[in-house]
Amino acid sequence: MIRPKEVISTGWNYIKEERNMSVLVYVEQVDGKFKKSVFEAVSYAKAIAAQTGTNLTAIAIGDVAESELQELGKYGAEKILSVNNTELKNFVNQAYAAVVTEAAQKEAADVIVLSNSFSGKGLAPRIAVKLKAGLVDGAIELPKLDGGKFLVKKNAFSGKAFAVTELTSDIKVIALNPNAFGVKENSVSPAIEAFSPAVQSTDLAAIVKEIVRATDKVSLPDAELVVSAGRGLKGPENWGMIEELAGLLGAATACSKPVSDADWRPHSEHVGQTGIAISPNLYIAIGISGAIQHLAGVSSSKVIVVINKDPEAPFFKVADYGIVGDAFEVVPKLIEALKAHQA
Ligand code: FAD
Repeated sequence: MIRPKEVISTGWNYIKEERNMSVLVYVEQVDGKFKKSVFEAVSYAKAIAAQTGTNLTAIAIGDVAESELQELGKYGAEKILSVNNTELKNFVNQAYAAVVTEAAQKEAADVIVLSNSFSGKGLAPRIAVKLKAGLVDGAIELPKLDGGKFLVKKNAFSGKAFAVTELTSDIKVIALNPNAFGVKENSVSPAIEAFSPAVQSTDLAAIVKEIVRATDKVSLPDAELVVSAGRGLKGPENWGMIEELAGLLGAATACSKPVSDADWRPHSEHVGQTGIAISPNLYIAIGISGAIQHLAGVSSSKVIVVINKDPEAPFFKVADYGIVGDAFEVVPKLIEALKAHQA
């Protein structure tokens, strides 16, 4: 992996030159398992590697079984660096950023890809600073390699516009929005390599010793299915049917801002411009009007289903499926149908 001197500062033009490059993808694990968003990040990184005629290496940190690491080969990871160190068992921004940076240097990676998840959002800027790299967080498409330029598209202004960013640095860090690219199979047989990074004690200033789950519910930022409700539900006493529907679907629950402001639901469920931005596969919005500030956090969901008694509710304009009806009639019927289906 030698980087010829003469092309060090020529930006992305060096793609055309004869050299070994590599793309590195960070694959986050939860309890030793990879989520769909990880396979999507690997698929995306593989497509960049194919665009640039280079190889893809993945880096996994934590206790992940070899069979799980092998799964990454299905999406094109040719090499997997596995860091299994007790101090790094649980995610900590500072230490994980140091490890991914070291892996990027070891692999002479030109492009580092992460999922724009909770941990990816924390890691990407730290890695970019350490590597003096250009960063695009929340990428939504494959980069365009246009006349030697490296252009990455992302959402801007809460989804009301797109920004196309040119990364002119030699090293580029891209955090991919979940569900923006999709999972694409590209099967290879990966070589798994144990990697022992030389983490400095200063990078281990904070270590997570134990994670105690406060609830068994699906976590909202990572959820693939979300059932969300708004002021149309009238009061907190009516959330039983929302919980039940979410439980039957294996979905997380969310809500609009006024609902959490009124303490009907916890603030951790508030989605939108001033809440959490999510992009699940399915977002079911019940009794939510679809104000622009709400849509800012949910409009990149893959499929949006809206249940609202007002046919003029703005949410219907962005819905893939809409049910005009009273939530107190529609939701119990959905629950009944799901129960019958699952029986
Ligand atoms: P409402 O606007 O009151 O809408 C309730 C909906 O329920 C209506 O469409 C109604 O037709 C329907 N409905 C009523 N009864 C029923 C029934 N029985 N069955 C079916 N449907 C029914 N909002 C957010 O959500 N997230 C944010 O992050 C956010 N950030 C903001 C930031 C700023 C700076 C500002 C100014 C506002 C922000 N808001 C945010 C608030 C936003 O503008 C809206 O006021 C809010 O989203 C409306 O919430 P809602 O749809 O639950 O309530």
